[in-house]
Amino acid sequence: MRLAAAGMARYPAFISELLDTQTTDPEFFTSGMLILDPVDNAHDANAISAWAEQYTYPHQWQAAEDHFPHLPHDNSLWLPQINTVRNPRLLRALIEAVRQADVTILEYQPARELRVAQQRVIGVRCDSATHHAEHVIVTAGAWSGSLVPGLSPAHIFPIRGQMIRFDTAPSAGLKTILLDEGIYLIPRQDGSVVVGSTVEHVGFDKHNTEEAIHHLHRKAVELWPNLAHTPIAQQWSGLRPGTQDEIPYLAAHPDIAGLWIGTGFYRNGLAMAPAVAEIMADLIQGRPTMMDLHDYRIDRPTPF
Ligand SMILES: Cc1cc2nc3c(=O)[nH]c(=O)nc-3n(C[C@H](O)[C@H](O)[C@H](O)COP(=O)(O)OP(=O)(O)OC[C@H]3O[C@@H](n4cnc5c(N)ncnc54)[C@H](O)[C@@H]3O)c2cc1C
Repeated sequence: MRLAAAGMARYPAFISELLDTQTTDPEFFTSGMLILDPVDNAHDANAISAWAEQYTYPHQWQAAEDHFPHLPHDNSLWLPQINTVRNPRLLRALIEAVRQADVTILEYQPARELRVAQQRVIGVRCDSATHHAEHVIVTAGAWSGSLVPGLSPAHIFPIRGQMIRFDTAPSAGLKTILLDEGIYLIPRQDGSVVVGSTVEHVGFDKHNTEEAIHHLHRKAVELWPNLAHTPIAQQWSGLRPGTQDEIPYLAAHPDIAGLWIGTGFYRNGLAMAPAVAEIMADLIQGRPTMMDLHDYRIDRPTPF
């Protein structure tokens, strides 16, 4: 949670810097988020309030009807300062921005192996060439376990999430994020609504299943009945990088100099990204980092 909170706090400045480069607009805006009846007792509500205060998220306990008359949930949590960003557009903007800065991106060239000599990384072997480097950062998501000595597929593994999208007119569109029983609806600025997501341990399998799509559709219509007659415009799935203790790996490799790891961001990689980038830059430059990274080391004991 520390990393996600630090990442979210950095988003406004990060997006503003990105917009200055005249790249694709990642459609970042403050939507707020309403969570329907997240707890059923005062003790848990207090714990959530304490958590929100610790990370300085303004929050209010409210009846959902105050926002959505069709949703009779008395004890809902309203987080008015939560932001949303359109992640495919954010990635496009980042690619454009780094290219403007003369960074070379080699697409569709999987790293096959790290080249190491005398306990120091010296490069990366791809199919067509070996690229020499003094520093290598492995950020291969759920696939990172096959590249990093000491990490295995048991430490870092895929967790599938299926999603759907509806295209509606902005005037009929949802304005805030709605979350209920693990399913969320996210509004986009053009009126479309993204609905997700499943949490499935099915290996490196990115298929969609009829059952999951049906469940997402049913829940979406229940929460936002305007979608009842709108066809699903898109369905897809992604593989989140999971770890046994749900804590990322963000560290220097303990045995190989020049090798850095940033993975295992599970359900919050997008929220964490600006903080992770800053920490990684500080680590490599030998500067103090914004937080203690002991919990994120790769040689921590794992609860197998
Ligand atoms: C359905 C769904 C909904 C989500 N919603 C949210 C959300 O609302 N908020 C949030 O913060 N996070 C969310 N996440 C989680 C977020 O997407 C991940 O945490 C994040 O993508 C992890 O980023 P990453 O760069 O570490 O890994 P990835 O995004 O998996 O990227 C890893 C990349 O490395 C590439 N790669 C793999 N092996 C190699 C190799 N050998 N050589 C070269 N490249 C390689 C892969 O092709 C991939 O492009 C969601 C995820 C899913 C699936």
